[in-house]
Amino acid sequence: MSNYNDPRLSILNVAQKSKILILRQSSKEEFAARCPFCGDSENPHHAHLMLNIVKDAYHCTRCGEKGYAIGLYARLHGISNSQAFKELMNMSPETTPKIEIKHVPQSPVANINERDKVYRAFLDKLTLKGEHLQNLIRRGLSWEEIGRNLYKSVPIVPQERLRICQELIQERLNLKGIPGFFQVQKENHAYWDFYSDNGFFIPVRDIQGRIQGMQIRLDDDHERKYVWFSSRGKLSGTGAHAWIGVHGVPSKIVLVTEGPLKADIAHYLSRYTFVSVAGVDATKGIEQVLKELNAKRVYIAYDMDLKNNKNVQKAKERLEKKLIQAGFEVRTKTWEERYKGIDDYLLARKKSQKVV
Ligand SMILES: [Zn+2]
Repeated sequence: MSNYNDPRLSILNVAQKSKILILRQSSKEEFAARCPFCGDSENPHHAHLMLNIVKDAYHCTRCGEKGYAIGLYARLHGISNSQAFKELMNMSPETTPKIEIKHVPQSPVANINERDKVYRAFLDKLTLKGEHLQNLIRRGLSWEEIGRNLYKSVPIVPQERLRICQELIQERLNLKGIPGFFQVQKENHAYWDFYSDNGFFIPVRDIQGRIQGMQIRLDDDHERKYVWFSSRGKLSGTGAHAWIGVHGVPSKIVLVTEGPLKADIAHYLSRYTFVSVAGVDATKGIEQVLKELNAKRVYIAYDMDLKNNKNVQKAKERLEKKLIQAGFEVRTKTWEERYKGIDDYLLARKKSQKVV
């Protein structure tokens, strides 16, 4: 089962030897633990470090840190992998942590029309905090565009979350299969709740403008600033997919960038049509989206600071190849390196034009 076939090198043993707090088993293959790299969310019941017991690997869904068991021990102890291997082999293994090991029933994802309906009714009940509004204005969006795009602050007070869920249910909306929503079992009754963390929602739309899913822009400045609104691993919960966002109308020229908020801003500032991917490797199905948009020429506009990142370069080359094979004319969009994202570049250009 385990990658190394040695209990001393299993991810669960390594995590325990590294004083990582394991909270629960979230699926057959994964345990959820508190992430030592980003410190995890303020809520001590949240756990973003996924420990995969089949691959003996870890991956934080919050900050993106990932790797394998020996490397985890090495990193947290500031030693080399070979030293980590030696130390782990010289210690007797911990027993499997005594945490609830039960299979949590999940709900399959609801179809897009239902998701759109629930998310719209949900967002309609929320407000946008002043600090989040300021944040979005600083990024270059107008009041009107912020309203149109339905960005809303994530409610974090439990009573407020419960009230919102109750209202949605009273409106005959079905929360089952909607990523982000899940049930909480209390003695002999269950109630609905949703994933929350300090930040604001970014709805991710499809070509028809329907909300497919949502990302959350987290307030705390961690290495990872965006997470999906997801309830994977929770009772009656549903995981989010890496939905591809459409920002704009069908067009012969379409730009591809990483992150729906960046694409919203870049679209607003340039009026070009953008397609957003959640990560450089999350491009599954992008050809179909581009075809539906009638795209002929596609510009890949990933962040400039990713130029020297080998993995990003490889992912970009794979995307180029895939798009060329699908019949698109593919170009890379570049800009002055002092601007990280295409949104930063477009915003700077807009500001300078105002001055002239
Ligand atoms: Zn983390």
